[in-house]
Amino acid sequence: MTESLIATVAVAAPIDKTLSYAIPAELIGRARVGVRLKVPLGRRQAVGYLLAICEGDDAGLKPVAEVLDEAPLFFAEMVPFFTRAAEYYCHPIGEVIRCALPAGLSGRGEGVSILREKVFSATTLSGEPSGTRQQQILALVREQGHVPLSVLRERFDAPHAPLKRLVELAFLTEAEVERVRDPFLATPVSADTPVEPTAEQQEVLSRIETALAAGEFSPLLLHGVTGSGKTEVYLRAIASSLKKGRRALVLVPEIALTPQLVGRFRARFVDGAASIAVLHSGLSDGERYDAWRAIARGDVHIVIGARSAVFAPLPKLGVIVIDEEHEASYKQGEGFRYHARDLALLRGQMEAATVLLGSATPAVTSFHRALGGQTAYLELTGRVQDRPLPEVEMVDMTATPYGEYLSETLAEALRQNLERGEQSLLLLNRRGFAPYILCSDCGTSFRCPNCEITLTYHQQQRHLRCHYCDYTDTPPELCPQCRGGNILPEGVGTERLEIELAELLPGARMARMDRDTTSRKGAHQQLIDQMTRHEIDILVGTQMIAKGHDFPGVTLVGVVNADATLNFPDFRSAERTFSLLTQVAGRAGRGLLPGRVFIQTYSPEHYALVCAASHDYRQFFDQEVIFREELGYPPFGFLVNLVLSGNDGKKVAAAAEALAEGLEQAGAEVDVLGPAPCPLARLRGKTRVQILLKAPARMPLRRLLVRLPQLKKQIPAGVGLAVDVDPVDML
Ligand code: ADP
Ligand code: ZN
Repeated sequence: MTESLIATVAVAAPIDKTLSYAIPAELIGRARVGVRLKVPLGRRQAVGYLLAICEGDDAGLKPVAEVLDEAPLFFAEMVPFFTRAAEYYCHPIGEVIRCALPAGLSGRGEGVSILREKVFSATTLSGEPSGTRQQQILALVREQGHVPLSVLRERFDAPHAPLKRLVELAFLTEAEVERVRDPFLATPVSADTPVEPTAEQQEVLSRIETALAAGEFSPLLLHGVTGSGKTEVYLRAIASSLKKGRRALVLVPEIALTPQLVGRFRARFVDGAASIAVLHSGLSDGERYDAWRAIARGDVHIVIGARSAVFAPLPKLGVIVIDEEHEASYKQGEGFRYHARDLALLRGQMEAATVLLGSATPAVTSFHRALGGQTAYLELTGRVQDRPLPEVEMVDMTATPYGEYLSETLAEALRQNLERGEQSLLLLNRRGFAPYILCSDCGTSFRCPNCEITLTYHQQQRHLRCHYCDYTDTPPELCPQCRGGNILPEGVGTERLEIELAELLPGARMARMDRDTTSRKGAHQQLIDQMTRHEIDILVGTQMIAKGHDFPGVTLVGVVNADATLNFPDFRSAERTFSLLTQVAGRAGRGLLPGRVFIQTYSPEHYALVCAASHDYRQFFDQEVIFREELGYPPFGFLVNLVLSGNDGKKVAAAAEALAEGLEQAGAEVDVLGPAPCPLARLRGKTRVQILLKAPARMPLRRLLVRLPQLKKQIPAGVGLAVDVDPVDML
């Protein structure tokens, strides 16, 4: 028997296990943990990720065909993290890693190239060369240690000859390194304004300091009202971790929506020793690949990114910050349905890091863990400089005539605010002109042919659009049912609100922030800049306007329809409404002038609204958990949602019935609810049926899910199954 090297490989395919391959002699050395490989799989070739190398007998093993990367994309210590994540979410390990790696690398390795460049370094040789230009160049390199050729080219005319001479004389050495395409090199860094921490910030920081010093896994919930200075706490916690030689990962819900936050990090750290990489969807494949490689090489100290940055191959992780930890966007909605906050906790545990969850409205589950002592609880109760939280007034819309969506109270408040020269924000969680159009003669409405929802009317583009599948149609002139000509838009979206407000308040400078107005690159930033420069009096927008912005000039916030989120068919609708209202209210009065908030609603007594109005998180939590406990919903129970879908409705229904039956028989301690049609029973032409698994603890669910691969075999072709562990969106 001959000892050979054997590779453990996760193939990027729906295979639940890792596979073993022989490493042929000519690939030894290049086949390192963390690279992509090409391996034979059945009769085809597939991409796989090298997870481990061991010695053993390779008899009967197929050989690795090709090594696709020159350098690893992740390091060995991350393999257990990927493995645990795959197990927890019942997702094939190869698909987990494919999802973790930057886009552009999922395929066969072409597409992204490594750029290299020459770097010159000074040797210890003392003395001076004779030529003046040689002396100038040497002086610069000696001062900076290492200087890339590109920089020398900018500073000196035709530096090649003198450089060549300096290398020959052994004053300099040259080396080739990877060049990073850094989109931030072009944007200037704003000035940092260091502040003296408040007493509360100081208290919180000293507890974080203790956690960092211990160097153990330490989850902390930082509950701080809007404007209490959480970001300042993050910045200092990270500075402290860096001083201890450990790096930082910062997760934000949607990076495109938080350029101000990224700006503050850059302002604080870029001048110093720390290097920052920002991972976001606006990067090209090449840029993202460069950032990823720089992180994996250990050249980066702070990574800021959205959800998927939780997989960034940052070595020596000391602290993970999850800003706005309650945000639903941390959960991936399709494919590998992970929750970045939960994976951050897992990663923190595996790497003995401090994990700081920050929010003004912690997720009910996170606060529950803090109450139970599994997470330490840190609180910032007041805004900095004793700025008051805004006063919130509920406006009962039952008093407003039907069909009108702006109360006299809110309209008057907007008018007054405009006269005072102050800025207002208006939240309406619905884009487009009107959520539907209706024939006022026969009542016919217009639905998406692929999905079970009404088509939204967009006036500017003059079309009807499905907000799920993007199906578009032109609005009919005549009703197809009764041939009547009275087809009218019903209800209100941001587009209509902006237009009608402009008529109501002529002279007001209006703008709108929603997905339609921010799809162009830079458009979102432009709106933020205009707000900051006070070139906009009233900004109308969807929940986008509620996120993290710091507009000191905003003194009035109006919520046009608080019932929209409240009436969602989801057990988290109250939680979401409470946090959205708290977030948007928190945009008011952040500057020198105090703020006011008006919430229009048909249910002014609802506890989610009442508690948001009184800024009372605890009161909300205490009410909310009553019904959660009764129904066994999180945090008192654990859920897994199984969604079956396919073009043939009957086939889907039959497969769901059979699967539910199999699950019933297998799992005595688990409630198997359904099958039942999903709230969105048809989506993109597919019929959707769900089975909800519910249990008071995780273990029974895990035991049941182990059986799933077996049960799945009965599902016929043409029916897909998606497993959603800890589902957030159950539409
Ligand atoms: P949060 O993230 O909790 O909403 P921020 O960190 O954005 O709050 O802080 C709100 C504002 O207060 C920011 O403009 C910030 O610069 C300022 N700030 C934070 N901490 C202090 C402090 N200790 N002293 C003065 N201003 C502060
Ligand atoms: Zn549709």
